[in-house]
Amino acid sequence: MKWWVSMPKIELHAHLNGSIRDSTLLELARVLGEKGVIVFSDVEHVIMKICFYSDDRSLGEVFKLFDLIHILTTDHKTLTRITKEVVEDFASENVVYLELRTTPKKNDSIGMSKHSYMEAVVEGLRAVTTVDIDFDSHKFNTQDSLNSIAMNDACDRTKRKRIHVRLLLSIDRRETTEAAIETVKLALEMRDLGVVGIDLSGNPVVGEWKTFLPALKFAQKQGLYITLHCGEVPNCQEVQLMLDFLPQRIGHAIFFEEEEWRQLKTSKIPVEICLTSNIKTESISSIDIHHFVDLYNAKHPLVLCTDDAGVFSTSLSNEYKLASTAFGLGKREMFELARNGIEFIFAGDEVKQDLVETFDSAAKKLN
Ligand code: 5GP
Repeated sequence: MKWWVSMPKIELHAHLNGSIRDSTLLELARVLGEKGVIVFSDVEHVIMKICFYSDDRSLGEVFKLFDLIHILTTDHKTLTRITKEVVEDFASENVVYLELRTTPKKNDSIGMSKHSYMEAVVEGLRAVTTVDIDFDSHKFNTQDSLNSIAMNDACDRTKRKRIHVRLLLSIDRRETTEAAIETVKLALEMRDLGVVGIDLSGNPVVGEWKTFLPALKFAQKQGLYITLHCGEVPNCQEVQLMLDFLPQRIGHAIFFEEEEWRQLKTSKIPVEICLTSNIKTESISSIDIHHFVDLYNAKHPLVLCTDDAGVFSTSLSNEYKLASTAFGLGKREMFELARNGIEFIFAGDEVKQDLVETFDSAAKKLN
């Protein structure tokens, strides 16, 4: 097994509906086509593009794609299924801690509230059987299963793979202040079910910071952790306001001016880096000029992430391989980069300690 697959990894920026398996997306489209809900031939080529050609598409096109994915996935049963599959997929490539984010959605026509949406997601966590999962209490659900995924090289502390999962609720930039506050209240209600924080995401050219600020302030006051999609498009004023807010982490950090780089480095706010996503959405023209290099050399807190493993046809292992090749970093440096991620997770000390032990154990086998 290649080292980038076998070594333990930490995933902190993964959107549930963006991480859906290609095969599941295609199957869902076929079923909805047969039921006459959609015209399969209309969407087939779009899905096939995601699944098999994986070509680049602008950030705007990606958001149109999400609208299509949501038509296919937003019912309770499907959410449960894709949550289970996404967790099992990450665990199969030795992700030992996953923070999965999703936007709770309301759809009266199928009796879905934001609350029932999240219940379906949590049901998906409960349905995980092929790996041991902890998602709420640092106690592993260790159901035995015949189709248990085989033990791996780097983290053989137990026979079965094990993964800690925590949830972040996303506020979509299309939402109103009231809707954003409703999401924060839901996160507070679901703290015992593994919800640890709030994310701000969605099309970066839509919505204004002042709309989300009351909800984010409320979340911050209540002790929820916050991560913001920041600087995905040029918008100096918003980047400044976001950095002043002092979130626990930010995602992407692409269109920063000199002053914002300086402020970021001083603040030491960890950055979730999504290489493939940035290249495929053409937000960055070439990997050689990616800001990873400058931040890494400045020893700024960084973590490699997938963003949308399904939509961008990637995996966390692939992101590690890509960074290693593109930036000339060896196995040990990549291992340290992965291990450093422990510091930036939103779960508590017990989980951190468990991850330290997992990485220590894997370090002994690193040669
Ligand atoms: P979901 O929240 O439905 O589980 O995951 C998909 C949603 O995540 C998208 O509709 C979008 O709001 C958000 N998302 C996924 N990828 C990106 C990204 O690269 N940038 C931003 N700003 N939002 C994203």
